[in-house]
Amino acid sequence: AFEVLVIGGGPAGAAAAVYAARKGIRTGVAAERFGGQVLDTMSIENLISVPHTEGPKLAQALETHVKEYDVDIMNLQKAKGIARNGDLLEVALESGATLKARTVILSTGARWRQTGVPGEDQYRNKGVTYCPHCDGPLFKGKRVAVIGGGNSGVEAAIDLAGIVSHVTLIEFDGKLRADEVLQRKLRSLPNAEIITSAQTTEVKGDGSKVTGIVYKDRTSGDIREVPLEGIFVQIGLLPNTDWLKGVVDLTPRGEIIVDAHGATSMEGVFAAGDCTTAPYKQIVVAMGAGATSALAAFDYLIRATAP
Ligand code: FAD
Repeated sequence: AFEVLVIGGGPAGAAAAVYAARKGIRTGVAAERFGGQVLDTMSIENLISVPHTEGPKLAQALETHVKEYDVDIMNLQKAKGIARNGDLLEVALESGATLKARTVILSTGARWRQTGVPGEDQYRNKGVTYCPHCDGPLFKGKRVAVIGGGNSGVEAAIDLAGIVSHVTLIEFDGKLRADEVLQRKLRSLPNAEIITSAQTTEVKGDGSKVTGIVYKDRTSGDIREVPLEGIFVQIGLLPNTDWLKGVVDLTPRGEIIVDAHGATSMEGVFAAGDCTTAPYKQIVVAMGAGATSALAAFDYLIRATAP
């Protein structure tokens, strides 16, 4: 059996694996796709001490670092269940195999909800983006739209208004859902515009980059186009935790509830990164949480095996 079994091979899982392996304990990583969301990222400029890198390069670096240690990497393996059997936890994989471990670290990450409108896929990373903290500076002095009027959308619009020339917030509903204080802040900004009752219908581009966004005014039925260079989709982040429902405590949004050590509601099971309640979904944050969870798992092991 593994002493630490990490489920997920993104920044959180890689950090957890390195920290666990450095304690000299038997460590494994099972990941559906080693590298995680980083693989889908182009330019990364906020991983502190690395001024500039690219997603695939960072994913490779994560794997190289983990392989410096005696870690059993099981790539292309999707976990589908977890249960306790005496002293051990058993993780069932979709392949039919079962992995046994004394502690498990869940680091299955999350994925951004998409609008599904024509052009969104074609222009991803070519103007369509999901992360204001990551990509905001790329649109300095340009025009952008934010889709979604919840807290994350309105926060993104306020954040971007300080960088871009103009930001249009587009909300499907008749009103914004964000906290009143955020709405007030956004309304006070001279270069921000709010459009409600607007259904985004298309991302327009010239073949290589975004040139506009098309929406339907849900009151009049009119179709309108806003010319711009960037679109930030902020309609929700979905944690990859469906398979954990009823096993560990999740929030209504599906985030794994963790304490400051990364402990979940299930004994011996820890969690780290975008799949948890920890705020701010970023690479450097996920790496820190991965380290925390591995050290917490190690602390748990030395207590659990005390005579
Ligand atoms: P993830 O990276 O999501 O990794 C999850 C891992 O779990 C993957 O290996 C996945 O295959 C695996 N997995 C999922 N379900 C299962 C399962 N059931 N069984 C086994 N394995 C499973 N952050 C920044 O800091 N800077 C940026 O510039 C930046 N740009 C971004 C650009 C894009 C396009 C995207 C999508 C994200 C960006 N982010 C950026 C966010 C950053 O990528 C995430 O915060 C970070 O990757 C989270 O790490 P994680 O390890 O928690 O999860």
